[in-house]
Amino acid sequence: MLNQARMILKKYYGYDSFRRGQEKIINSILNERDTFAIMPTGAGKSICYQIPALLLDGLTIVISPLISLMKDQVDGLQDIGVPATFINSSIGYREVINRINKARNGEVKLLYIAPERLESEDFRQSLSGLEISLVAVDEAHCVSQWGHDFRISYRSIAPFIKELYDSSPIVAAFTATATEGVKEDVIELLELKYANVYVTGFNRENLYFSVERGVNKKDFIVKYIEDNREEVGIIYAATRKEVEGLYEILRKKGYKVGKYHAGMSSEERKRSQDEFIYDDVKIVVATNAFGMGIDKSNVRYVIHHNMPKNMEAYYQEAGRAGRDGEPSECILLFSPQDILLQKYMIEQSIASPLRQKNEYKKLQNVVDYCHRSKCLRKYILEYFGEEEIEDECGNCSTCKDDSELTDITIEAQKIFSCIYRMKERFGATMVAQVLRASKNKKVRGFGFDGLSTYGIMKEYSEKEIKDIINVLTAEGYLGLTDGQYPVIKLKQKAAAVLKGKESVFQRIQRKKEKRAEDNSLFEILRGLRKEISSREKVPPYIIFSDSTLREMSKYFPQDRSSMIGIKGVGEAKLEKYGEEFLAVISNYVKENNVAPIKLNIENPSTKLKEEKIPSHVITFNMYREGKSLKAISNERDIKQLTINNHIIRCAEEGLDVDLNEFIPSKYESLIIETIESLGTERLKPIKEELPDEVEYLAIKAVICKYIGKQL
Ligand code: ADP
Ligand code: ZN
Repeated sequence: MLNQARMILKKYYGYDSFRRGQEKIINSILNERDTFAIMPTGAGKSICYQIPALLLDGLTIVISPLISLMKDQVDGLQDIGVPATFINSSIGYREVINRINKARNGEVKLLYIAPERLESEDFRQSLSGLEISLVAVDEAHCVSQWGHDFRISYRSIAPFIKELYDSSPIVAAFTATATEGVKEDVIELLELKYANVYVTGFNRENLYFSVERGVNKKDFIVKYIEDNREEVGIIYAATRKEVEGLYEILRKKGYKVGKYHAGMSSEERKRSQDEFIYDDVKIVVATNAFGMGIDKSNVRYVIHHNMPKNMEAYYQEAGRAGRDGEPSECILLFSPQDILLQKYMIEQSIASPLRQKNEYKKLQNVVDYCHRSKCLRKYILEYFGEEEIEDECGNCSTCKDDSELTDITIEAQKIFSCIYRMKERFGATMVAQVLRASKNKKVRGFGFDGLSTYGIMKEYSEKEIKDIINVLTAEGYLGLTDGQYPVIKLKQKAAAVLKGKESVFQRIQRKKEKRAEDNSLFEILRGLRKEISSREKVPPYIIFSDSTLREMSKYFPQDRSSMIGIKGVGEAKLEKYGEEFLAVISNYVKENNVAPIKLNIENPSTKLKEEKIPSHVITFNMYREGKSLKAISNERDIKQLTINNHIIRCAEEGLDVDLNEFIPSKYESLIIETIESLGTERLKPIKEELPDEVEYLAIKAVICKYIGKQL
């Protein structure tokens, strides 16, 4: 069966290999086990139920909360040749019957429905007699009140499945939310039976994470967009007012930009969303109301203008970048005022003191993230319960700091002493005005023009001084009082600077170097894709993803057999769009004489394969040559920990690894006992329970040998 699954992956989706976790999940479903998969946004959940749907005899019902996107999802499937349809409130009665009949005749394999449908007795009746092999529940956390998108109609799913006792379908649930309460609820409320639970790693390697503390947010965003004008991105802001403000700034600068917040009418919101999905606008400024189910794969950056309320929300929103696996950036702009704002929102929206306390705790985790001086990715992954994570990921703003440090000690000293002389009773504006020798009435009224610090920063603008104050606040030298007119106070940390014992530095982002590669073919292909999109009325990313176009512009396929070697080109798409794209590429090759890359043109698929041996398979090959894990680690210059994980992964994927080699036999039964009593959810408690000499590798090997569930 798994071989067939792989064939489908290639034939329909045009992908050569499964991503982490997909294979196991598909296998579990095909073995008729209830299955619960927890994977981060963008990891590729859909394929995990779509491929079984094609392999199972009967119909697959997909329950999906996103009515507005059902059509796009189904269009996408039809486009790759998968027979699918949907039923939701936008469909008239006759058409509903028509679609159900198609399912009955086996003309469609996947039927997407909104959960609300299940509340209707009539609707459930109309499904009777259908052979239903699989019920896939997307966004399964909606069943839980602990999740952030509780939907009461999700509670109708379990009774509905019970009514289907004739076909007794397999149930597969999917979510990106890993919180304990949510997990338990999903299993209990969807009544999953002896479910295989899979938690794939939460890591998204292609995402670059960065935190900018104390920058002038507007300047930062304007500059960022200027440097990335060709790219698609989302900017999240906390309030409607901020959304409107940023939107206006960008619009006036001449960018095609959209906005989205709860204050707009539903038509306006729909229009914004469509314009974005269809690449008519590249940038959307939005509150967090935007994006649930934005499957758009080519989002290159997500900027948070404000700090979100917890890490779950942050990772979900930031995770909308880079679904296609291409490098993308997630940037969080931190200012201490955001903490006040979030605290205020918690007070306003939550009554129970206990839950308030819980929310404050979660908020503090985000604040810690913002102040972190070590790897940001490690913080995120540990937050989501992962263990044994490398100290440096090399792809976040603390691991890969490409900013320049400017010494602002003198400025800081001037500002601190001015605040001190003003008796710590004023806000940033007033402090800046005194430093600039403002003749303002208020300044003179308080007698500040007589202070020794009056006018000692004349050469700076008021904005420049306030920006520095922001940096100093974000770095913990200054504190702000609560309330509408926050007053600046000196904090402990400032004393050492005033005494000249410590220096203060500001990070200044270096101008990014543009991508060196020649992108002109990519742009031409993007244009063609847009043309086809308008003609066929499907979103561009459904035709081909950016990563597919990028491969085309790298390997110049000029005939059908090379075209099918490109990632993301399956058979149906080759039929539908192949000729048009081939024509454009051939033309480009001719006009630009791209002869030097001829090698690739002749056989791009072998070229692709060579480049793409997954890292763990390389490790496996060396292991098979008889090398020890330590030797492999040295030779490849990769941490031993990673190599260990490679080997376990190979075993999980069914490669010939002798796990016993990693399990000290005298501890084997003890490890099994410990796992049985503690579960395999978290490894750390298991490790702590066992004697010190039992390594993580041994524990993982045992789990893999006996349970094989942990990914
Ligand atoms: P999510 O887990 O958020 O539901 P999706 O199912 O929308 O993620 O998948 C995200 C993107 O990853 C899609 O563009 C999908 O085509 C792509 N994708 C999924 N599986 C693979 C794979 N095995 N190889 C390459 N791309 C994949
Ligand atoms: Zn890092």
